[in-house]
Amino acid sequence: MRRIEHWIDGGVFAGGGQRVGPVWDPAAGTQQAEVALGTPAEVAAAVSSAQAAFPGWRATPLSRRAEILFAFRELLHARRDEVAAVVTSEHGKTLPDALGEVSRGLENVEFACGIPQLLKGEFSEQVSNGVDVFSIRQPLGVVAGITPFNFPVMVPLWMLSGAIACGNTFVLKPSEKDPSASLWLAAALGEAGLPPGVLNVVHGDREAVEALIGSPEVAAVSFVGSTPIARSIYETATRAGKRVQALGGAKNHMVVLPDAEIDLAADAAVSAGYGSAGERCMAVSVVVAVGRVADPLVDAIAARLPKLRVGPGTAPDSEMGPLVTAEHRDKVASYLDSGRSAGAELVVDGRSHDLPAGGFYLGPSLFDRVEPTMDVYRDEIFGPVLCVVRVGTYEDALRLVNDNAYGNGTAIFTRDGGAARRFQFDCQVGMVGINVPIPVPVASYSFGGWKDSLFGDTHMYGPDGVRFYTRSKVVTSRWPDPSSSRVDLGFPVTR
Ligand code: NAD
Repeated sequence: MRRIEHWIDGGVFAGGGQRVGPVWDPAAGTQQAEVALGTPAEVAAAVSSAQAAFPGWRATPLSRRAEILFAFRELLHARRDEVAAVVTSEHGKTLPDALGEVSRGLENVEFACGIPQLLKGEFSEQVSNGVDVFSIRQPLGVVAGITPFNFPVMVPLWMLSGAIACGNTFVLKPSEKDPSASLWLAAALGEAGLPPGVLNVVHGDREAVEALIGSPEVAAVSFVGSTPIARSIYETATRAGKRVQALGGAKNHMVVLPDAEIDLAADAAVSAGYGSAGERCMAVSVVVAVGRVADPLVDAIAARLPKLRVGPGTAPDSEMGPLVTAEHRDKVASYLDSGRSAGAELVVDGRSHDLPAGGFYLGPSLFDRVEPTMDVYRDEIFGPVLCVVRVGTYEDALRLVNDNAYGNGTAIFTRDGGAARRFQFDCQVGMVGINVPIPVPVASYSFGGWKDSLFGDTHMYGPDGVRFYTRSKVVTSRWPDPSSSRVDLGFPVTR
């Protein structure tokens, strides 16, 4: 069985750990490799490599850092098909979807290429006689990133592009379910000129994560994953005095007002609900149908689902691939029974879809007349299951969105600009789409939810990323005017 190893100090690192995890081919339903699950010793090796690389990297001129990031950007762009194929083979998403993920990650690299501009401080001249005050932003040291399975290229790039641009060194612990993309990134960054030790990758599960966040040398932790783990990592790492941003799960609501264009809203619900098999933190999982829009909207969504082609991510006509593991597919499918037992109407059952044999497939499912007390409403299902909740008014829809524990993304579909503006003002959610179903901010903004979708106070990437990965220092300096100098400067000074 092929074994996937760590990447430490600029190369593949075969540690001594005996534990391994399976890496599946979700389209075939077979195991394709095993991944080394890091031990505390391997985590220590990665952290000490990052610690040793820090003084040199921190002193590397901004222009050189930007040059390496530009070179990496070119490699990633030129070889995007290659890395997308790596993603599809372990995650299962379709190749166009994997390419979309690479493009979003590229945006973060491009943003980081502007680091000479982004790290500019402030300067106040002559705050007192001969006194100037200025601020500078300095890197934190060794920082850690822990990432989920659903975006194995994009989420690591959200973190590491900004972190290393700011002068930190980085230890990445990617998802053990699809570990190869992170090695691809590390090798490409090395080829682009990144010195050994600036980026290290340790694979693993809970044991590696606990060792990493328990390392005194790790100054900050960025986490993206499910809410219970995000909360626990935030609590543990902040207690140890670390800076933490921990992004959690989601239950994104798409509100459809009675004046919305039905076909536009139905297309948006289908692409945002079932794209990437619903395994996106910005997937729409609840459609809130306001008033008379409910019947035509449910009909329009249901009519689209039998046409959705489910198949291997590599097949040119597939629109939705398999789920990441058999275990996850079975858990998602279990909601189809529990939702029906709780009284929701299962309009489309994905188990009856035309599905290929072998892989971890589940077709798209649609529930109507879902109530907020039901598990299918409350839990993050993270699969191709869309729930429709019918409400009477805009106020009811808003209450539903705001009462939900999660606050990652939301969207409103309407032709009324005033209603949309009021929604953007009223909703307690971090990212809002107006006639846009997956409102992922571009790289020059920052990404993050509210409530149980984010623990910490900075969002990820963009300007917040620069703030998170640096600390500010303020310098107050006094230089008396040379004309008053009692020392012979060797040159004439006049005022
Ligand atoms: P997960 O929480 O199971 O795993 C995330 C990371 O934590 C992985 O690296 C994993 O190895 C590690 N981990 C798992 N269990 C752990 C434990 N007990 N202790 C310490 N570390 C542990 O998440 P996942 O299934 O890989 O990804 C899906 C989840 O991520 C969903 O909840 C999704 O909403 C969320 N997500 C959120 C965002 C966001 O921006 N808010 C983005 C992508 C994914």
